[in-house]
Amino acid sequence: MSLPPTRVSPEELSAHAGRLIVDLDALAENYRALAARAGPAEAAAVVKADAYGTGVEGAVPALSAAGCRTFFTAILAEARRVKALAPDATVYALGGLAPGCAGAFAEARVRPVLGSPPEIEEWAEFCRSHGKPLAAALHADTGMNRLGLSLEQCRALSGSGALDQFEIALVMTHPACADDLSDPATEAQRRRFDEARALLPAAPASFANSAATLRDAAFHYDLVRPGIALYGGAAVNGAQNPMRNVVTVTARIVQLRDAKAGEAVGYGAVQHLRRDSRLAILSAGYADGYVRLAGGSDARAGGSAFIDGTPAPLVGRVSMDLVAVDVTDLPEDAVAPGREVVLIGEEFTVDDVARLCGTIGYEILTRLGPRFLRQYAGGPAT
Ligand SMILES: *Cc1c(COP(=O)(O)O)cnc(C)c1O
Repeated sequence: MSLPPTRVSPEELSAHAGRLIVDLDALAENYRALAARAGPAEAAAVVKADAYGTGVEGAVPALSAAGCRTFFTAILAEARRVKALAPDATVYALGGLAPGCAGAFAEARVRPVLGSPPEIEEWAEFCRSHGKPLAAALHADTGMNRLGLSLEQCRALSGSGALDQFEIALVMTHPACADDLSDPATEAQRRRFDEARALLPAAPASFANSAATLRDAAFHYDLVRPGIALYGGAAVNGAQNPMRNVVTVTARIVQLRDAKAGEAVGYGAVQHLRRDSRLAILSAGYADGYVRLAGGSDARAGGSAFIDGTPAPLVGRVSMDLVAVDVTDLPEDAVAPGREVVLIGEEFTVDDVARLCGTIGYEILTRLGPRFLRQYAGGPAT
C-alpha cells in the first residue's frame, strides 16, 4: 500500500516523529456502512478521546457530512469542542453529571447521560428551578457495574417524580461482552435492558456499541453508538473486520547502519542479529504510543514496519523516541534517511500491534501521541 495522497515537506516531516494520516473518506464510508446496517435505527458516532485519537476537528465535520446527527463524548470539555464543530448536532457526555455542573451542561447545550439517583436529582432540580425541561439520557446498568442505574434504582425512580422534571431523550445501557460472539452475557444484558425500560418512562432506546451494531438487529433499538468500527478497528473478536482502514502512522528513517551477525540491537541487548544486517533507525518510539512490547527479542519476533508494502521487522526493544527495523531485504534505493515508513496501516493495523502487546486496538489508537503530525486525507472540505 502507498501512503494516502497528502503531502508534507521534508522540513515539516523532520520536525515530527512522523505522521498520523486520517482517511476521512474511509471514516465517512465506515459511518455510512454502519448506518445502513443499523437502519431504521439512527447511527450516532462515539467521538470520545478526540475521536479515538483521530482528532475531532477532522472527524466530526466528516461524520456530519456523512449524515451523523448525534455524537457521544466522555466529558464536557470534549462535548464543547464537538458542539463548536457541529452546532446543530445532539451531543451527549457519557461520563455523567458531576455535582454543581448542570448549569455548565445547559449553557453548552450538551446532554448529560445520567447514571445515578444523585445525578438525576441534580438535573431535575436544575430543570425545575429554571422552568425548563432540558433533555438528558438515562443510563441503566445491565451487568457491567460501571455507570448506570440498577434495576432496583429504576424501580424506585419510577414513582419519585424526579423524572417528570426533564425530557428523557434516550434510555441507554452498555454491553460488556459484545465483542465475544460466544458469550451469552450480551443477550442477558439485552433482556435486563428491556426490564429496565419497562420501569422507566417510554423513550428512544440505545444498547449497541460497534460490536453489537455489527452483530444483530435485535441489539439496534432506536439508536446505535459505534466507536471503534468507525475508525477501522476490529470490534468483534475472531470475525473478519468489515471496516475500511482509516489510520496510517508513519515514522521517518533517521539513520541507516550496517551491523554484523551476532551483534545486539537496542536497550538490554535482547535481540542479536542472525546475519550481517542493514538497520534503519526510525523516529518514533513508546513516547509516541508505539508500545514498547511491540519490539523484538531473540525469543520472540516483534512487529513490522512497512516500506512500499515490504515488511521491515522491528529489531530489539522500542526506545522512547526511536526504534530499529531490519531493512536488509529491501532494495538499496528503497531506504534513505528522511524517507517515511509505515508503522501502522493497512498491512499492520492497530489490532495487529495490539495482539502483539496483549492489549486492544482501542488502546494503541487512542495513545498515538502529539509528536505525530496529524493530517487529513479526503473529507468534505477537499
Ligand atoms: C466507548 C463507548 C461506546 C463505543 O464503543 P465501541 O466499542 O468503540 O464501539 C458506546 N457506548 C458507550 C457507553 C461507550 O462508553
